[in-house]
Amino acid sequence: MTCFADVILPVPLQGCFTYSLPAGFASRALVGVRVVVPFGNKKTHVGLIARLHNQEPQGIEVKAILEIVDENPVVLPHQLSLWQWIADYYLCSIGEVFKAALPGKMKKAPTRPATSRRTIAPSSLDSPSLDSLPSDGSFLGSSSFPTLSPAQQTALHGIHQQWQQHAVCLLHGVTSSGKTEIYIHLIAEALQRGEQVLYLLPEIVLTSQLTDRLQAVFGDRLGVYHSKYTDVQRAHVWLRQLSSEPYDIIVGVRSSVFLPFRKLGLVIVDEEHEVNFKQQDPAPRYNARNVAILMASRAKARVLLGTATPSLDSYYNARLGKYGLVRLSERYGQVQLPEVEIVDMKELRRKRLVHGPFSPQLLEQMRQALSAHEQVILFQNRRGYAPHIECHVCGWVPRCPHCDVSLTMHARSGRMTCHYCGFTAEIPARCPNCENTELRQHGFGTERIEEDIQLLFPEARVARMDLDTTHTRSAYEAILHDFAAGETDILVGTQMVTKGLDFERVSVVGILSADNLLNQPDFRAYERSFQMMAQVAGRAGRRQRRGKVLLQTMEARLPLIQQVVAGDYDAMYIDQMTERRQFAYPPFFRMAFIYMKHRRADIISRLAEEMVLRLKAVFGQRVLGPDEPPVARVQSLFIRRVMLKLEPALPRDKVREALMQTKAELLAASTFSSAQIYFDVDPL
Ligand code: ADP
Ligand code: ZN
Ligand code: ZN
Repeated sequence: MTCFADVILPVPLQGCFTYSLPAGFASRALVGVRVVVPFGNKKTHVGLIARLHNQEPQGIEVKAILEIVDENPVVLPHQLSLWQWIADYYLCSIGEVFKAALPGKMKKAPTRPATSRRTIAPSSLDSPSLDSLPSDGSFLGSSSFPTLSPAQQTALHGIHQQWQQHAVCLLHGVTSSGKTEIYIHLIAEALQRGEQVLYLLPEIVLTSQLTDRLQAVFGDRLGVYHSKYTDVQRAHVWLRQLSSEPYDIIVGVRSSVFLPFRKLGLVIVDEEHEVNFKQQDPAPRYNARNVAILMASRAKARVLLGTATPSLDSYYNARLGKYGLVRLSERYGQVQLPEVEIVDMKELRRKRLVHGPFSPQLLEQMRQALSAHEQVILFQNRRGYAPHIECHVCGWVPRCPHCDVSLTMHARSGRMTCHYCGFTAEIPARCPNCENTELRQHGFGTERIEEDIQLLFPEARVARMDLDTTHTRSAYEAILHDFAAGETDILVGTQMVTKGLDFERVSVVGILSADNLLNQPDFRAYERSFQMMAQVAGRAGRRQRRGKVLLQTMEARLPLIQQVVAGDYDAMYIDQMTERRQFAYPPFFRMAFIYMKHRRADIISRLAEEMVLRLKAVFGQRVLGPDEPPVARVQSLFIRRVMLKLEPALPRDKVREALMQTKAELLAASTFSSAQIYFDVDPL
């Protein structure tokens, strides 16, 4: 008889916690069911049984499980093993994975009496409407099922061929080539084989435009999993996947890799290059694309990565022969790819032909488009009104009191805001330093672009899409809806407007400053710039007429700019890979950051030095730093970062052991005990 259970708790401490099973519970205790347990001082937590055994732990007081929540497991054994893999690979605790994986509602201690709690058991979730659905694929005679073009058919065939030798295939298909239509065919085939499908998308691309399109074909067999969904909705999807009538297709954002699948056969990762697939904060700092690939390989499922602008990592894997590769290089309907014209802003400035952010060429193209009742997208990757303000006399710049950044001016709210911690303050009427009343605005954020463009085109209907206008999902959808319906003429936005959107009437796209993208302090800046510019360009001319893109830059001669103009991904790839190899960056080396945070500047410096000293003893030259990240103080915490560059062949468990041990030792020292130390593996 089993007497003990190892329980996963949603805490950042390593490993599981052993509890005893009161006699009455023994028969109901199963791996994968939730339990309520005491933890720490007077606290209780909802945890999950990971293992049952009868080895009594020695030398510690073992507390008893208070309650068993579920009749049936809510987490399947293969999910538990995936969690462990994530914890090991991304250097966090399995508790942190548990916390990220389960919808919030399922982690709360139930308040109702034990009997009524059964209503949440999977079997009760079988929705009656499901019974009426044919399960033999006959529903696919739906009229919205697309007929593929010859080029799409060739690509589909190519994917099948690649899958015979590679579990993962990369579909490199230009913008508007109809990748979604190919996905629809692959999904239908998987359903006919009785398999489940996971269709993974970056947060921002998961629009109702897309889900409507999929729902038109697959109806109720499709479930959507989204972070803006309520906890109840998310818990419902989770439990339904455990029921006897699960969704056959899940379309979802990165956290949907945590959902239970019993017969996963196909994983599609759309816009696979998106940085958004990587969770930045909190732990687990996982990359959902990579986790999905691992998950698929364990389930013996096929993977399709789709994008017009592959990540260098995936393209490298394809060139190495680890992944299959299929190209689709024509647009659906044989529409030409847009013409990209470079606008040399340096030259225009020198000749005093331009003052603000708009070149005469761009304004002329916009005028033509608007008079032809076509639409325009303007892309500027800074939100707010002005990136910063400065005193004209003494040079004072308002800064966040908690973070190491200047405040961004937002005109509509009349406030200055920190984009790192959300701190806001009123814009001062005079400089607090010298009393001067002339405060200057530097640079152009989307808010100011919107205002200026409205003055230049008073007749036009202008809308803006950035973090500030899309707080709710409905606001985001409304902006897209109005634009798609032709109720907006000009859409101004941040990188949000570069993502997988499909509009009919956009004929002109303006990239207001390529330099903002290029000058990011990041070794991936050029790769990202290429991706963003090619993607936003891809929004133009998706139907009949060829679109036009105006690319404004101070660096007109830069090879990368020429590569964007030529749409020459391979040239960009070769250039960037040469640098990556030379400077030992991914994909040639694996990278990991060690972050340290503390309230006190003196302690953080000592901790960082001590960390480097200890790591160098183990890893030698592979340790770089410590350095201050681009923003070195956030929310009153000072930050230091140490970088590790590791040869891919280095044994991962040895690396993990050394890092975990160093962390534990440092935190055990009283000076550093209140510091935070965490890892970011494969940072993006
Ligand atoms: P991508 O994702 O490759 O950028 P989409 O899948 O959004 O391209 O397709 C671009 C447009 O072309 C969409 O409006 C889509 O409906 C249309 N389209 C693509 N392929 C087909 C097809 N086979 N039949 C009908 N319409 C298609
Ligand atoms: Zn001043
Ligand atoms: Zn701040």
